[in-house]
Amino acid sequence: MTWEHLERGSSPVDWCEGNYLVSPDIAEFVNTISNILFLLGPPFLIYLFKDYGRFIQPAIHLIWVLLIVVGLSSAYFHATLSLLGQLLDELTILWVFMATLSLFSIPATYLLYKELKIVQDERVYRLGVRNTTILIMAIVCWINDRMFCDTWSRLNFPYLHGFWHILIFISAYPACVLFAYFFVNDERPESRPTLKYWPRNDCELGIPYVSINYDKKFDDAI
Ligand SMILES: [Zn+2]
Repeated sequence: MTWEHLERGSSPVDWCEGNYLVSPDIAEFVNTISNILFLLGPPFLIYLFKDYGRFIQPAIHLIWVLLIVVGLSSAYFHATLSLLGQLLDELTILWVFMATLSLFSIPATYLLYKELKIVQDERVYRLGVRNTTILIMAIVCWINDRMFCDTWSRLNFPYLHGFWHILIFISAYPACVLFAYFFVNDERPESRPTLKYWPRNDCELGIPYVSINYDKKFDDAI
């Protein structure tokens, strides 16, 4: 790799949003700042999963940290449209995928939907449905930005790739939450995992996490 791969615009990929329209330093402004959830969300998840990390699987936090790396790489890519940024953006998403699979092992969590079909807990099932719906919306945004940029530009809305960033975050991290839930449910059912929501447990629009009843006094501390 030579220095020219760090140069702005060296990537062959350019999204629908116009370049350098808002700031002379940021190529695609909305596509850059829409990665903010990747930076704000993981510290919360690290906090909410502290008991899970302590008693079940400390490496869960690796996934949350990798999500931050994904957000930073993606923001760097959209700010510069450099080839290095593009590679980082693509590779880090693969890292998260591989880390999730290797952490929770394929046999324990194989095919999320198969687990969802037999799951007893309705809240877990609903989170699976919510995830899948948001994932489909994210993919629709991605495809529209890529394939129908002319139409969206005529409608003055070349920002669907930014929506993809937001929607993919709010469907990807709950998928990791579900993996974490099924892992402990299969491997350590005695710790009675419960899917909970922050800030209010009765509001399923909040941030989902897995609470462990390993030791009641630790759970109450959350
Ligand atoms: Zn992007």
